Amino acid sequence: MSPVRDLAPSEPPADLAVYFAEHRANGRFHNPWGVNVEASVSRLLKWQTARNPWRSQKRSAPVAALAADPAGAWSHLDAAGRVCWLGHASLLVEIDGVTVLVDPVFGWAGPVPRKAPTPLTVGELPHIDVVAISHGHYDHLDAGSITALARRFGPDLTIALPLGLERSLPRAARGCRVVSLDWWQAVPVRGVDVCLVPAQHWHRRALGDTNRAFWGGWVVRGTRSVYHSGDTGWFGGFSAIGHVFPDLDLAVLPIGAWEPRWFMGDQHMDPDGAVRAFQAVGAKRFLAMHWGTFDLTDEPLGEGPPELQRAVERAEQTFDERYAVLPHGGTLGLAR
Ligand code: ZN
Ligand code: ZN
Repeated sequence: MSPVRDLAPSEPPADLAVYFAEHRANGRFHNPWGVNVEASVSRLLKWQTARNPWRSQKRSAPVAALAADPAGAWSHLDAAGRVCWLGHASLLVEIDGVTVLVDPVFGWAGPVPRKAPTPLTVGELPHIDVVAISHGHYDHLDAGSITALARRFGPDLTIALPLGLERSLPRAARGCRVVSLDWWQAVPVRGVDVCLVPAQHWHRRALGDTNRAFWGGWVVRGTRSVYHSGDTGWFGGFSAIGHVFPDLDLAVLPIGAWEPRWFMGDQHMDPDGAVRAFQAVGAKRFLAMHWGTFDLTDEPLGEGPPELQRAVERAEQTFDERYAVLPHGGTLGLAR
């Protein structure tokens, strides 16, 4: 069994030191740079009872272009590196023959119905080496999907989690190799590092468990490297991720669930934030996620892609082939 590796630099640059700082106190986790998501019930109620300014647009807007690709492209791409978007934050990554499935959700997200079919079932997946979960919210950690994966892949499957999240796993996961990681720790699998990196987010899955488990994003690094941000507000930690992983081939970033900003701003980026995050981590390409699958927030389900294009133009960049918005089941190669 491989040990966990610590990828934090021994002396991080002074302006990035806070992203390597202590983030635990009294059994709860926090974002040590001082921005902590205030997830009070009163704020939630205020949002849920407010009028949604997007309401009429949301009713009339067709659901985004949701044509599922039967993932046929998967087998034709360079196996040095490729990713397949399975909807929302679910991403299949293959680098150097190691397969990592991030945030698999094959059905509903807890009580939230799925608006687009899942392009692949658990039975149709290729062999999976690692399941990596970014945090405990129901649109990222789905007990039913993990149970199905644990049954299919058994003790060969590594389940990589942020610290404390092992308590939220279903019983079937006990048959797998479960590894809980702190930020900047990686589990190595046949020469590929699967590393938990910081995010500006929070945890709540059940009553009384607020921030008792950690959260983060993932970097999968072999001869190619992919960064999946998980859920995060915009924060300076993107520069720290780019510092530790200076050769990212792809940043997989959210372009959905950002409205209203007064409620979502600290915990979810809008597309403008995603474009800034892409620049800060310094990845070669951008892949859109966290859109078009679950209706979680005020803006219409298909608003992300056109808003991303506008955000790129607002940042005085060119919306070119560096920016990928895939259909559900679409595959992207990481050939250089
Ligand atoms: Zn979340
Ligand atoms: Zn989410």
